[in-house]
Amino acid sequence: AKEKGRGTYQVFDGHMREQEVAMAALEVDLYQALELGQFKAAYQPIVCLESQRLVSFELLMRWQHPTLGMVPPDKFIPLAEETGQIFDMGLWVFEQACQQLQQWRELVDEHRLPTIAVNLSAVQLNQPNLIDKLDVILARTGTKGRHLKLEITETALMENTQAVNEILGSLRERHIELAIDDFGTGYSSLSYLDQLPVQVLKIDRSFVNSLIDRGEEHEGTQEIVKATISLAHSLKVKVVAEGIETEDQWRTLHGYHCDFGQGYLFAKPMWPDQATEYLLDNLDR
Ligand code: C2E
Ligand code: CA
Ligand code: CA
Ligand code: CA
Repeated sequence: AKEKGRGTYQVFDGHMREQEVAMAALEVDLYQALELGQFKAAYQPIVCLESQRLVSFELLMRWQHPTLGMVPPDKFIPLAEETGQIFDMGLWVFEQACQQLQQWRELVDEHRLPTIAVNLSAVQLNQPNLIDKLDVILARTGTKGRHLKLEITETALMENTQAVNEILGSLRERHIELAIDDFGTGYSSLSYLDQLPVQVLKIDRSFVNSLIDRGEEHEGTQEIVKATISLAHSLKVKVVAEGIETEDQWRTLHGYHCDFGQGYLFAKPMWPDQATEYLLDNLDR
């Protein structure tokens, strides 16, 4: 590219600067987003593949930006992790989940209440006094830990530090279940599975996606997914498959005895009112 002369450089530099400026602007806006109430919680059902019953909702964060519209979490979560804003945002998300549970408890018998799964970024594992802060929210909202799950990526959990172990122990004491998120995308080692206090494993969408590619069965992926499910089960860990979009994927995963599924085939992420409606509609199934 160097030989192409200065023109190329200028175009390249100009482009970079534009992106940097856009990112910097987004960062500034992100600082105020919480205060201005621009974050929203969406809820996506997780269902039992056998009975198709609703078992849980995953809370997925949304940012309603005043001029850019809906900014996807893949854009703003990494930014928030860099700036440390993820700490406050994470507590906000946790509180939303607890408040939602409180609201649903008024409509639904406690034993039929779905759990809410909340994503916890690796960075949050380093938040000072994280557990104390979660305890304050649990107490304030009168929420029992067993109605909540935390989803953490495997790479975050592999950091077997004292701090992480203490947090995992505290979650266990509070009956907050732990799910390994995006399983298979990191340097996953199935051998870690029995060293961690994990109750749920979420197979990443990329695997579900390539089980069957345009009608063509993908044997390699199928074997990996089958083996993952059976090993998880032998360790008493339940399995959720992410991103199920087709009947074929659902049938295949059900055939592998995968416990739960999440994906557009069942439902897309919904705003709280729709989620409540979905919950009430699915109670008597
Ligand atoms: P994730 O935890 O893997 O969440 C699943 C993502 O897959 C969600 O994307 C969901 O909308 C999408 N999805 C679900 N079913 C389907 C399907 O059938 N097909 C397709 N194509 N996609 C499906 P979303 O909401 O854009 O979130 C992206 C990521 O952002 C999440 O991935 C998670 O890592 C992160 N994220 C979202 N909310 C939070 C949060 O509150 N805290 C943290 N730390 N991270 C969050
Ligand atoms: Ca997740
Ligand atoms: Ca996931
Ligand atoms: Ca994923």
